[in-house]
Amino acid sequence: MQSLRMCATSETLGLIVNTLRNYPNLSRAELTTMLSLSPATLTHHVRDLIDAGWVEEQHVRRTSGGGRPRVGLALRNTATYAVTMTFSPTSLTAAVIDFGGHIVAKTRVEQPMGRVTDAMATVDRVLHDLVRAQEEKFPRFAGIGLAIPGIWDPESETVVFTPNLPEWAGMKLRDLIQRHRHDEPVFIANDADAGAWGELWFGAGRDVQDMMYVLYDIGIGAGIIIQRQLIRAQNNSIGEIGHMLVDSSNKDIQCGCGQYGCLEALGSLTALQHYQDQGMELPQTLDKISRYLSIGLGGLINVLSPQIIVFSSHIFAHYPALWPSVVRNTRGRLLQHLVHKTQFLQSPLGDNASLLGLAGLLFEQELTRSQGQTVSTVNPSQWLIHPASSPAP
Ligand SMILES: [Zn+2]
Repeated sequence: MQSLRMCATSETLGLIVNTLRNYPNLSRAELTTMLSLSPATLTHHVRDLIDAGWVEEQHVRRTSGGGRPRVGLALRNTATYAVTMTFSPTSLTAAVIDFGGHIVAKTRVEQPMGRVTDAMATVDRVLHDLVRAQEEKFPRFAGIGLAIPGIWDPESETVVFTPNLPEWAGMKLRDLIQRHRHDEPVFIANDADAGAWGELWFGAGRDVQDMMYVLYDIGIGAGIIIQRQLIRAQNNSIGEIGHMLVDSSNKDIQCGCGQYGCLEALGSLTALQHYQDQGMELPQTLDKISRYLSIGLGGLINVLSPQIIVFSSHIFAHYPALWPSVVRNTRGRLLQHLVHKTQFLQSPLGDNASLLGLAGLLFEQELTRSQGQTVSTVNPSQWLIHPASSPAP
C-alpha cells in the first residue's frame, strides 16, 4: 500500500507541475477544479511543492469588483535546469532549459558528427561550457538529454539504428558521456519521440489526446501519441515511418537503410536535392515529393486517426509551395470521415521541440526522484500524467 500511495503522490505532483507549466498563475481553486482534486489534497501537494522550492506564489490578482484577492501559483523557473541536445550529420544543437520550460541559452556547433568518439568529445565540451555558465543560477541540475536521429534501445542502452550516422550503431552513448560526468542523469531518446513530447507538453499538442509529430528533413521520423502516451514497441522502434515502402518500382535513390522505394528516400529533403540535381524543375520536384509524402502519411492517418499532425521542418520556409501541396495531396488520400477531422499544423516550437521534450522528461524524473521513488528510464511515459482539459477561458 505504501508504494501505491507514493506513486499516486508523485503522479499528482507531476500533474500539478505540468499544468502550471502550461497555464501559469492559476489559483488553488482553479487548479482544484481543473484537475478534479479535493481542495484538501491540492492544498497539501501545493504546500509540499512550495516547501521544496518547485512552486512559488507569484501574483496577487484582484477581481474588478474589488473582491477577495487571489494568489496565483507558478513554477519557480530557477528551481532546476536541464541541458539537452539534438544532432544532425553535420551539427549539434544544445540548449539550457529552465524548470518553467524557457530556453535560457542555446548554441550550435557545425561539425561532422559521423565519428561517434569525436561527436561525444564535442558533447562533453559543450556540456562543460553550458553547465559552468549556468550552475550558479540554479540549485539543482536535472540532467542531460540527447535526442538522436535513429532508434535507441533503453534496455540494452545501445544505439540500434541511425541510417544517417551509421558509425553510431551499436554504441553505448550513455557510457561515453558518463565516463566524464558520472554523477548526472542522462536521458537518451529518438529525436522524433522527443519532439512529440515537446509538442505534447509545450506546443501544438497541449490540448489533444491523439497526435502524430513528423520530423521532416534529410530523413523522416515520427513520434506517435495515442491517448497522450507515446506508443512504443520492442526495441523502441515505432515511428520509423521513413522506411515505409511508397514506390516499389522507383530505383532513383537508395535509402540510408539500404532499400529502395522508402518514403525517406523519395519524399524527404534528400529526394528534393536529388531531383533538383538531376535538372527537374522546382514545381515538378515539389509535386513529386509531396505525392510520395501523401502516400506514406495518408496511410498512417487512415490507420491511426490522429486529431492533429504536426510537421517540424525548415523545408517549408525555403519552399513555401510545398506545404499546401503536402496538405492537399495528403487530404486527398484520407478516408472521407477523416478529411475534416484531421488538422495539419506546422510546429509552433520548430527545432526546439525535441530540446524541450527531453527537458520535460528530465524534470519529471527529478521530481520523481525527489519523492524517493525509482525512475523508470524504459518507459517514462508511464509516469507522465497530463491535464485532460484546459482551464476555462
Ligand atoms: Zn529506408
